[in-house]
Amino acid sequence: MAEITLKSLAHTYLENPKSSQDYAIRELNHVWQQGGAYALLGPSGCGKSTLLNIISGLLEPSSGEVLFDGEVVNDLPPEARNIAQVFQFPVIYDTMTVYDNLAFPLRNVKTPEARVHERVMEVADVLELTSQLKRKAKNLTADEKQKVSMGRGLVRDDVSAILFDEPLTVIDPQLKWTLRRKLKDIHQRFQITMVYVTHDQLEASTFADKIAVMYEGQVVQFGTPRELFETPNHTFVGYFIGSPGMNFLDVSARDGAVWAGDTALTVEQGVRDAIEKASSSNIKLGIRPEFIEVHTEPVEGGMSAQVDHAQDLGTYSIVYLTLGGISLKARIEEDQTTPTGTAWLRFPDERLGLYVDEYRVEVDHE
Ligand code: ADP
Ligand code: MG
Repeated sequence: MAEITLKSLAHTYLENPKSSQDYAIRELNHVWQQGGAYALLGPSGCGKSTLLNIISGLLEPSSGEVLFDGEVVNDLPPEARNIAQVFQFPVIYDTMTVYDNLAFPLRNVKTPEARVHERVMEVADVLELTSQLKRKAKNLTADEKQKVSMGRGLVRDDVSAILFDEPLTVIDPQLKWTLRRKLKDIHQRFQITMVYVTHDQLEASTFADKIAVMYEGQVVQFGTPRELFETPNHTFVGYFIGSPGMNFLDVSARDGAVWAGDTALTVEQGVRDAIEKASSSNIKLGIRPEFIEVHTEPVEGGMSAQVDHAQDLGTYSIVYLTLGGISLKARIEEDQTTPTGTAWLRFPDERLGLYVDEYRVEVDHE
């Protein structure tokens, strides 16, 4: 088992990269601590598989270092890194039985046959494959094959880490939920470092204690699901996490006020100071739909917004608003009155984020 450190990692698939756009991984620094249950979350094409393959040694990075427990492993081949990897699609031996498929990684490292049996039975039990053990893998359904593939990843308890690359893609939705829970149980039982790649925020937060959000080849935030929700460090995290995602308003400071289009916003002094100090004109305020206060009557500090429409989702509604020419979404609970025509909005100071060049910056609260 190991702590995995990625130091100034970069990777390009091109012979002659010209700009940062040509890199699948860009200057990435990250630490996966020993024993954690982690998710690597990001949209398709952001570099998740590239990163896993660099960790397991299937791919050599263009630059930077991979360290296991402080030792550089760049020159070690995959076998020597002692990492189990489960891919998106089943990797199994069709002509072998399910039992032999599960036993393979153990026999490969000369595990005594009694121990092989013990582990195979244990993993088969967890994955509900016990009744299938004697079958040839080629006769299994796609779901079952992927379960065998996952079992092959889980069967060794002496690996440095287990990497899962969107392992539930081919699994039926109902079974998905069960398997995710099982992975979590397995993690709790064995305390092996696990990195679970997904593009699905729900999948990430049910499995992981901490999530690394990846965007354009970089980890833009590493935090608990709650931290990602409450204080997104990057506009992408705000937008990607949550449903609907965070609202962002392009703003500027002028004449002692903060403006979104032609509307002066009611924000605390600290926000105005930080905007005036910013060295970029790419400045955004971010607020989650859940945290916008929506009033049907004028209130002190309330900013008047046009109500475009509301979408009733049962226990809550999403209200679509326009403030200073900018579209916003606000979530209101079922016991609140849905506004029509005009609404008065307030952004609670502690819920408002300030973003300069897409990254969150500190604001002094009085
Ligand atoms: P993800 O797993 O997050 O979907 P990938 O790591 O597969 O992302 O891909 C990251 C980027 O690298 C994408 O732009 C993809 O097109 C590119 N890429 C991935 N694999 C290769 C490859 N073997 N050759 C060239 N480009 C690749
Ligand atoms: Mg991928």
